[in-house]
Amino acid sequence: MLDDELCSPPNLYIDGKWVHAAGGGTREIVNPADGSVLATIDEADRADAVGAVAAARAAFDTGGWPRTPVAERIGYLLRIAELLDAERDAMARIETLDTGKTLRESHIDIDDVIAVFRYYANLASTQADRLVDTGDPAVISRVVREPVGVCALIAPWNYPLLQMSWKIAPALAAGCTMVAKPSEVTPLSTIALVKLIDRAGVPPGVVNLIQSSGATVGSALTDTPDVDLISFTGGAQTGATIARTAAPHITRVALELGGKNPHIIFPDADFDSAVDAVLTGAFLHSGQVCSAGTRLIVHDTIADRFVAELARRAQRIRFGPGLDPASETGPLVSEQHRDKVEAYVALGISEGARLVTGGERPADPVLRAGSFYPPTIFDDCRRWMRLVQEETFGPILTVERFGTEAQALALGNDTAYGLAAGVRTADAALGERMVRALRHGTVWLNDFGYYTPAAEWGGFGRSGTGRELGPSGLAEYQETKHIWHNTAPTVGGWFADNDN
Ligand code: NAD
Repeated sequence: MLDDELCSPPNLYIDGKWVHAAGGGTREIVNPADGSVLATIDEADRADAVGAVAAARAAFDTGGWPRTPVAERIGYLLRIAELLDAERDAMARIETLDTGKTLRESHIDIDDVIAVFRYYANLASTQADRLVDTGDPAVISRVVREPVGVCALIAPWNYPLLQMSWKIAPALAAGCTMVAKPSEVTPLSTIALVKLIDRAGVPPGVVNLIQSSGATVGSALTDTPDVDLISFTGGAQTGATIARTAAPHITRVALELGGKNPHIIFPDADFDSAVDAVLTGAFLHSGQVCSAGTRLIVHDTIADRFVAELARRAQRIRFGPGLDPASETGPLVSEQHRDKVEAYVALGISEGARLVTGGERPADPVLRAGSFYPPTIFDDCRRWMRLVQEETFGPILTVERFGTEAQALALGNDTAYGLAAGVRTADAALGERMVRALRHGTVWLNDFGYYTPAAEWGGFGRSGTGRELGPSGLAEYQETKHIWHNTAPTVGGWFADNDN
C-alpha cells in the first residue's frame, strides 16, 4: 500500500481546490509487481471534467495568468523544479510502484522532468518579439507570441510524469491554463506533481487535474469549444478518435502517438556496443517505450552471430519488482497489457516467425503475482507480418535480415509509423546517407534511445503531428499575432471622396 501524503485523497484539483469526485466515484490503483492495491483514488465523471474546463476557461479569460509578465511565470517554473528536486526520492518511489519500472529508471525520469521545467523557464526568458521591416518608416510591424488558451493535456501510462511534464511545463511558460488528465492506469505521480504545483503557489484555475478513463471524461475535454488545444500522448487509435472529435470545433490538436522503430545494424558496426544498444533499445522498461527499437534489421553476414549473442544476453536480464535494486527491468503495467503482449507472441508464431528465446510467463513463484514477461526474440521475420508492423508495446524483438544499403533503407522506412530509428555503422558517409533518408522524427547514429529537452521530439506519419520539447514544444502552446502599428496615419486614397 502506498501511504504517501503526495497522493492522498481528494485527488481532483479544480479551481485551486482539492475535491472528491462529485458522483463519489473511486478507482483502485494496482501495483503491477505483485497485484496489490496501492491506493484508492477519486474517479471523476463527466460533470467534474466540465467543471475543470470551466475553471481553466475562467482563469484564462478573466484571470491574471496569461497576462502575467514572463519573468514572473518563469519564477513559478523554477520553484516547481526546486520542489521536485526536494521530493525526488518520493516521486521516484511513487512512479516505480505505479508503473512497475525500476527505481533507477524512475530517478532518471524525475531528473528529466526537473530539467524540462528548467529548460522551458530558460527558453521563455529568451523569447523576444520579432520586428518586421515593412518598407514604411511610419509603420511598426511586430510579431508577438501569445498563449494559445485553455489546453487539455492527456497522457499515457508508460512515462506518466515525464509525458505530462513535457506538456505542463511549456503550457505554463506560455501563459496557458489547463486541464491535465493522466492515464487512469498510472495517475499517482501526476497527482503528486500537481500537489507541488499547488505548493509553488500557481494561481487557482491555471492547472486543473481530473482522474478518469478516456471513455468517461474524454469528450468533455475534446468535444468542446472551450478548449483551444488538445495535447495528447497515447495510442494511434485514440489519437485518431480525438482528432475526429475535435475537428468540428477546429480545436488545435497535437498528437504524440506510437511507433514501430527500426534499428539497423551494418556489418562494419562495433559488434559488442551494437548488441548492447539493441538489448537496451528493445527491452528497457520491458519494451513499453514509444521509441523502443523492437524491429532489428541486421546484415546477413553477421545476423546469426548477432542473434545468438542477443539471445544469450536477453536470457540474463534480471527482471523483478522495480523497488528491488537487483532488478534490471520491471513487470508489464497490468495483467490486461500482458494478455495483449502474449497475444502478439501467439500471433508471431502463427505467422511463421521463429521464437528464439522468451515467449513464456516466468515460472518463478515470486514473480507469479505480478505481470512479468521475459525478453522475447523472434528471428526469420518478414516485413508483411503484423508482428513486424504493429506496436506490441512489450518486450518482443523481431529480426529481419538485409543484404544491401537499399534493402536496409527500404525496410527501415517500411512502416506506417515514423517515430524513431537507429543506425549503426563505422562508415560516416553511409551513416549520413541513412540518417537523412530515414523518415522518422528522431534518428540515432551509433546510439539509441537518447533525447534532450532542447531537441524536438515527435513523429512522422502515423506517429503523430506536432512536436514536444525544444523551441517547437513551446510554440505548440503559443499563438503568433502580427501587430501593425501606423504611427502617422494619412488618407489612403483608394476610394475617391465622391462628395467633393
Ligand atoms: P491510450 O491511447 O490508451 O491512452 C492514452 C490516454 O488517453 C489515457 O489518459 C486515456 O485515458 C486517454 N483516452 C483514451 N480514450 C480517450 C478518448 N476517447 N478521449 C480522450 N482521452 C482518451 O494509450 P496508452 O495505452 O495509455 O499508452 C500507450 C501508447 O502511448 C502507445 O501507443 C505509445 O507508443 C504511446 N506513447 C507515445 C509517446 C510519444 O512520445 N510519441 C510517448 C509515450 C507513449
